[in-house]
Amino acid sequence: MTIAVLGGAGYIGSHTVARLVEAGEDVIVIDNLVTGHKGAINPKARFYQGDVRDRDFLRSVFKQEQVDGIVHFAASSIVPESMRDPLKYFDNNTYGMIALLEVMNEFNVKNIVFSSTAATYGEPKQVPIKETDPQVPTNPYGESKLAMEKIMHWSDVAYGIKFVALRYFNVAGAMPDGSIGEDHNPETHLIPIILQVAAGTRDNLQIFGDDYPTKDGTNVRDYVHVVDLADAHILAMKYLQDGHDSTAFNLGSATGFSNLEILEAARKVTEKEIPASIGPRRAGDPSTLIAASDKARDILHWQPAFDNIDDIIATAWKWHETHPEGFGDH
Ligand code: UDP
Repeated sequence: MTIAVLGGAGYIGSHTVARLVEAGEDVIVIDNLVTGHKGAINPKARFYQGDVRDRDFLRSVFKQEQVDGIVHFAASSIVPESMRDPLKYFDNNTYGMIALLEVMNEFNVKNIVFSSTAATYGEPKQVPIKETDPQVPTNPYGESKLAMEKIMHWSDVAYGIKFVALRYFNVAGAMPDGSIGEDHNPETHLIPIILQVAAGTRDNLQIFGDDYPTKDGTNVRDYVHVVDLADAHILAMKYLQDGHDSTAFNLGSATGFSNLEILEAARKVTEKEIPASIGPRRAGDPSTLIAASDKARDILHWQPAFDNIDDIIATAWKWHETHPEGFGDH
């Protein structure tokens, strides 16, 4: 039983590979290393460098390996970039999914766990958001991933390819032993930016907007630890292998933290001052995103181990403190 992790050299992908390897699974990593890191590739996984849009490359991998299931992370995921360059997102993400499903179908690979996003919901009418709520994205990133979910749905109907779409809310933290962590270039996510300021590798932190209809005017987000998220993928793969139907699950903590609360928590964990200023709103940001994750807890028996924002930030801080230059390949 071999699991192919596309995007396995990226942040969430590398943590999922590590957890699959720890669970004794045979894993291959497929990654084009555009945003992934060589240093994040698990030494116990076999690595194939190439692009998900390249059908011939995928065919060559599937010929060499007996792939039983796919975990698909290989996508662009930066909201502001997607606002500037939507076609990049529909190409890399949506078109990439078409190529992948075609080759999966050719090789009779019938299970895919897909990294979807809360951004498929857009500005929610109610929180916490449920899986059955309307999906009306406010940015091309969310739109590209919603299209991928729909393409998987029709591929299930036509070809019997089963999928689980995991709709993540905000992901943070790092492997608690400090071996791998978050390293984007440029970094755009709130917690790593805050910790870079704490570590002294960045001098500027702006909170984007303080006039939202929230408790302190800053955006509210729902944070999940990356290892808990990784484990949800393993449970989702097992769910598919057990023969269950395609579906989507939210992965969140049902708790929201404002951007200012995250900053305060980081000040406490790092014991650093972390200077910050308030800037203008960032285009495409919904005001509040909080998930109802009862479905994942009930059906997948997903039980996050990290339910405290300070603990989540502490693991990220361990990574940033010990790896101020990330994987050192920028
Ligand atoms: N954010 C911020 N300053 C930054 C980066 C992010 O205030 O330098 C805010 C952003 O506007 C959003 C929240 O932090 O309200 C989380 O953003 P992030 O990019 O981490 O994740 P997203 O919610 O977009 O997936």
